[in-house]
Amino acid sequence: MTENNTYAFALHGGAGVTPGRDYSDAEAHMRELALACERDLRAGAAALDIVTRAVEEMETCGLYVAGRGSAPNDVGYVELDASIMDGATRQGGSIAAARDVMLPIRAARAVMEKSEHVMLTARGAERFCRQHGLEFVADPDSYYRLPVGVVEEDLATANRAHGTVGAVALDLQGRLAAATSTGGIFGKSEGRLGDTPIIGAGTWADENVAVSCTGLGEAFILAGGAQDVASRVRYGSQPLDEAVEGLIADVGARDGDGGVIAVDREGRVSMRWNSFGMKRAWGGAGHIPTVAVF
Ligand code: ASP
Repeated sequence: MTENNTYAFALHGGAGVTPGRDYSDAEAHMRELALACERDLRAGAAALDIVTRAVEEMETCGLYVAGRGSAPNDVGYVELDASIMDGATRQGGSIAAARDVMLPIRAARAVMEKSEHVMLTARGAERFCRQHGLEFVADPDSYYRLPVGVVEEDLATANRAHGTVGAVALDLQGRLAAATSTGGIFGKSEGRLGDTPIIGAGTWADENVAVSCTGLGEAFILAGGAQDVASRVRYGSQPLDEAVEGLIADVGARDGDGGVIAVDREGRVSMRWNSFGMKRAWGGAGHIPTVAVF
């Protein structure tokens, strides 16, 4: 890997936002995170560490539908999904439908780095996490909380309300990485997986692009997901924005809503959504970190 002289990142806190609701706590949190990402990338941090840390922070704060802010499934307990990909090594890891893992993205990274597999689910994922000394939530009843901008009604109506967190980054060495973590769709069926834990659907990183998706997972899976953006760039030579818009259009054609963040090896950042908005932050060399929702 060679010096690249540029760096960039983007974060999302989910595209399931409702006009008129107050997301100011999440915005303030994302601003802090964005400042830290910018500072650390400028200082030479690895893209993989940036996306891991950013997602961990979003998992533990309880402001988003991931980690602490996850909602229970239709039988009353939280199932967590997360995936991570290192574009420089083309390695990936994920956990799916895992219970009470404190930092799902750290678990996904452990699968990538310490197992011979890409994906572990449910009891197997939990056993792997225990074997590798990863922390579990001690008291699930008091730990999980409603994230910012989510009301009880969203849980009760099972109206496909959703949220997720994700991060993409390009570092000074030219390495790209992506990470995504979610509690999934509110009131989801026990055992249901969306796009988030699937490498290529919710998360992708290679030598050209890093992509993280959020939205109705079924539609993202059927539209080809994050890998579709990479293929549009690789085989179709599409500019990043066009590639991201192409995926979003395909998700929309499948009655899905959601958003995508992506960064390419030149440090271009693309963020698109077809919902009311997407909690997001971005920055890079020469760009002051910026936060927005709608
Ligand atoms: N994609 C997630 C899922 O389907 C939800 C979201 O991103 O809002 O589980």
